[in-house]
Amino acid sequence: MSTAEHEDADRRPIAKGWCPGAYRPMRSGDGLIVRVRPRLGRLTLAQALGLCEAARRFGSGIIELTNRANLQLRGVRESQHLKLVAALAELGLLDDDPSLEQRRNIVVPPLWRPGDDTERLANELAARLGELPPLPAKFGFAVDAGPAPVLVFTSADVRIERGRGGGLIVRADGARDGVSVDPSTAIDVVIALASWFATTGGGTRMKAHLAQHALPAALAPTTAPAPQAALPLPGPTLLGPAYYVAFGQMAAVSLEQLLQDCAADALRVAPRRAIILENASWAASSEFITAHDDPLLNVDACPGAPACASATVETRLLARGLAPLLAGTARLGGPRTLHISGCAKGCARAQAADLTLVGRDGSFDIVRVGTAWDRPSCMGVAPRALASIIGTD
Ligand code: SF4
Repeated sequence: MSTAEHEDADRRPIAKGWCPGAYRPMRSGDGLIVRVRPRLGRLTLAQALGLCEAARRFGSGIIELTNRANLQLRGVRESQHLKLVAALAELGLLDDDPSLEQRRNIVVPPLWRPGDDTERLANELAARLGELPPLPAKFGFAVDAGPAPVLVFTSADVRIERGRGGGLIVRADGARDGVSVDPSTAIDVVIALASWFATTGGGTRMKAHLAQHALPAALAPTTAPAPQAALPLPGPTLLGPAYYVAFGQMAAVSLEQLLQDCAADALRVAPRRAIILENASWAASSEFITAHDDPLLNVDACPGAPACASATVETRLLARGLAPLLAGTARLGGPRTLHISGCAKGCARAQAADLTLVGRDGSFDIVRVGTAWDRPSCMGVAPRALASIIGTD
């Protein structure tokens, strides 16, 4: 990690001490947030429709996709939480053991196939979660064992990837290279890396820890990852059509309609706020992003006010208004990616964006090529003045 990145990590406001789970939801301005971690990022049609019904019945009817390809039900009433947990368990979307449920932070590439290395290793890791030491709640794993890594920008602390020679590697996040493994030893090495992190006083995330501590000789990285590949864009994929979800937030009724219109067999959840409908036909939809050049694909915005109690500014309507301006500025060499954050925590995007607007006391601070917690170049800009700033950037 460079010195600058180090400073950035130090400046990032402390996140809440846990990730919201199904058993342990988080309170927000619009009620409880209940997170569901679908195994291998896949829901059967019955599970997907059941989840939509649960979102309507026990919550506000809003479902969110997270950056790590999980699902969140928003606006759940406290009085309905236990009923929702029972409904999710009935759908087979929960582990019986809340502590295992909480630590099942495993993200996979969306186009895995039955019987491939990704499926086998993700299942083995899920079955061996009890062998892991106590870890911070946000500590996560990417089982990215397809032909090329596609989850490089998806948050994870330990990664299983394809190495340059075609074999598997296990890579600590922040390390350039990984340890060569074969499928039978990969999870042993994952557990060894997590144990090293825990026993050496690992803090919250692997990348920051690795900047301060060298890996032991037995886990020394030797093999570079294969060149990364892209996640699927909106449109057809080998499994069925991919749709993107603006800001990761959709109405349960819209998802139900899409599943029905496409005659999908199952639903896969992908990082970067996408869904793939297995064995489905393409159906036009105004509720989802369907064009690969839609400027909203390059815009991140957290829920903002009033949904989040930490925000003093509205974010997503503003983002929809500003997104079309990006197409013009990007052609002229201006900002291509835009992040609108309700506060300096920057929940919607951990990586730098070309332009980041950070809410503070009803106005925005502006960060160029940075994150929400970086030093702004301009402060206290009124929301109505932002369009002209983007247009001239
Ligand atoms: S970044 Fe957005 S969602 Fe996260 S705490 Fe701040 S206002 Fe809330």
